[in-house]
Amino acid sequence: MSDYARERASFSWESVRAELDGLPGGRGLNIAYEALGRHVAKGHGDQTAIIWLGKRGERREVTYADLDSLTNQFANLLANQGVEAGDRVYSLAGRIPELYVCALGALKHRAIFCPLFSAFGPEPVAERLNLGEARVLFTTERLYKRRIAGIRDRIPTLEHVILLADPKKPDKPEGTVDWAEAMGDASLEYEIGATGPDTPALLHFTSGTTGTPKGAYHVHEAVLTHYATGKLALDMHPSDIYWCTADPGWVTGTSYGISAPLANRVTMIIDEAEFDPKRWYQILEEEKVQVWYTAPTAIRMLMKTGPELPQSKDLSALRFMGSVGEPLNPQAVIWGQEVFGMPFHDNWWQTETGGIMIANYASMDVKPGSMGRPMPGITAGIVREGDDGRLREVDDPSKDGELALRPDWPSVFRGYWNNKERYDACFRDGWYLSGDLARRDEDGYYWFVGRSDDVIKSAGHLIGPFEVESVMMKHPAVAEVGVIGKPDPVAGTIIKAFVSLQSGHEWTEELHRELIGFGRKNLGTAAPREIDFVESLPKTRSGKIMRRLLKARELGLPEGDTSTLEGGDS
Ligand code: ATP
Ligand code: MG
Repeated sequence: MSDYARERASFSWESVRAELDGLPGGRGLNIAYEALGRHVAKGHGDQTAIIWLGKRGERREVTYADLDSLTNQFANLLANQGVEAGDRVYSLAGRIPELYVCALGALKHRAIFCPLFSAFGPEPVAERLNLGEARVLFTTERLYKRRIAGIRDRIPTLEHVILLADPKKPDKPEGTVDWAEAMGDASLEYEIGATGPDTPALLHFTSGTTGTPKGAYHVHEAVLTHYATGKLALDMHPSDIYWCTADPGWVTGTSYGISAPLANRVTMIIDEAEFDPKRWYQILEEEKVQVWYTAPTAIRMLMKTGPELPQSKDLSALRFMGSVGEPLNPQAVIWGQEVFGMPFHDNWWQTETGGIMIANYASMDVKPGSMGRPMPGITAGIVREGDDGRLREVDDPSKDGELALRPDWPSVFRGYWNNKERYDACFRDGWYLSGDLARRDEDGYYWFVGRSDDVIKSAGHLIGPFEVESVMMKHPAVAEVGVIGKPDPVAGTIIKAFVSLQSGHEWTEELHRELIGFGRKNLGTAAPREIDFVESLPKTRSGKIMRRLLKARELGLPEGDTSTLEGGDS
C-alpha cells in the first residue's frame, strides 16, 4: 500500500473479491482453493509453498502443486471415513507438514478445522474437543499415547482418530486410522463442493488471558480479510519469503501462518522448533526472509540477548517486520530500528476479528507505542456509554474508551461455539465491543491502554498497565514488566509491578530503590508503589502476560482457568 488515505477511500470488499478467483463454475469462495488451487491453475504449481525446517536440522520444500495434491488426498481421506461438511476436524500436533495438509484438506472438504496447541495436556484437550463436539482428530502416535488415550472415552462425539504413526513400530493403537495407509488409499483428485459465504471454516479457541477460552468460529469468506490484510498490512508480495513465527494452535498461526500467506502466493517458512535466538537469526539469514511476523514476547527475549548476534548476520533480505498479540513497547520498536534498520510494525486484532484490524503500514510513519490505524474496509471507534445509555464515540484524543468495530468485515466471528449468549453480549448499538481500552490521537492513530479487566483505578484515575510497563521498560536493567492494581487499606488501590531483569543485572536492594525512584520520576502518581522481582512472568502459551494470575497470586485468590499457562501443569 503506497498511500493510506487513497487506499482507504477507494477500498471495497468487492474489489478484493475481484482479486481472488472463486471456485471454478462460480461455486463460491473456499479458503483452500484461494490458497492453493487457483495458483496451480494459473501455472504457479512449481513455486515452493512451504519451506519446512525440522527440529533436528531437516529441511523440506513443498511446492504449491504438491500441497494441492496432498490436501486433495486428505480431503478424500475424510470423505472415505464418512466425514461430512460441517463436521469438526481437530488437530493436535507440532508444526509438522502434515498439520498443514490436514488444515487445508479439511477446508477443501468443508469440514470445520480446529487446531489445538500441541503442548496442551489431556484436560485442556478434552475440554476443547468436547466444547466443539469434535468428530475427527488428527494427531501423532506419541501425542495420542500421552494425551488422548486416557481421555478418549470421555469424548463421545469423537469417531475418527487419524494417526501419524512411527513406521518402525508395528503395533498401532486400537481404534485409530493410520495416516500413511489411509492417504495411500485416497485419490489425488478432489473437487471442492460449493462453498457459500457463510460456510463455517475455522474454530479457534482464544488465548485464555482473561479467563476460560472461548471457541470462536469463522467462515470461508474470511479469506477476503486474510488476503487483503496480508497484502496491505503485512506487505506480502507474490514469491516473497515470509515467516510467521506463531503456532497454528493460535489464530495468528492460521490466519497468517496458512491462509493469508498462501492466498498471497508467498513462500512460507515453517519452523518446527521452539524459540531460540541463535536459531531464529540463522533462519532469517539463511532463508533470506523478507517479511517477518512475530510477537512482542519474542522481540523482548531477542532484546534480552543483545544486539551482537543480529549484527553479525547478513539480514539484508529483510524488508518488513510485524508484531502482534500484545502491546508492543515503544522501546522494542526503537530497538528494531537500531538493530535491523527498520521498525517493528505493530498491529492489533483478536481471535474474534479473524484478521488484522488496526496496523502500522509499510508506507506510513510508525509512532512507537501505537497500534497504527484501521485497515481499509474497517470502521473502528473509541466508544463510551452516553447519558442516554447508548454508546457514543469519543472524539477527544486525551480520553480513552472501549475499542469497538462496526461488525461488517468478512472475517468477523460468527459465534462462540454453543454459547450464543456470550456472543450476543459482544454486540451493542451497531458495534462489536473488543473488551480492550484504547485512545485515538489527532492523526487517527490508536493507542492501546489495556484490557478492560486489567485497567487499574487508582486515586481517582484510570491507569492502563501498558503505559506503566512501557515506562519501566526504559530502565536498562528491566527486561519485562507486568503491572497490577493491588487493594490498599489507605490508598484504595496501589500499583504493583513485577519485573524480570536483563541478562547481566542482579536484583539488589539498591536496584529496587532505584526502580522505585525511576518510576516516581517518570510516572508521578501512576508509579508503582511496590516492585517485586520475578524470574519470569506468567504467560499464556501464545506469549501474553497473564496479569490476572499475577493479581490472584498476590492476593492469594484462586487462579481460575490456567489451561493455557506456559509451563503450567496442563
Ligand atoms: P481471552 O479472550 O481468552 O482472554 P485473548 O484475548 O488473549 O484471550 P486472543 O484473541 O488471542 O485471546 O488475543 C487478543 C487480545 O490480545 C486483544 O484483545 C488484545 O488485548 C491483545 N492484543 C493483540 N494485539 C495487540 C496489540 N498489537 N497491542 C495490544 N494488545 C494486543
Ligand atoms: Mg479476548
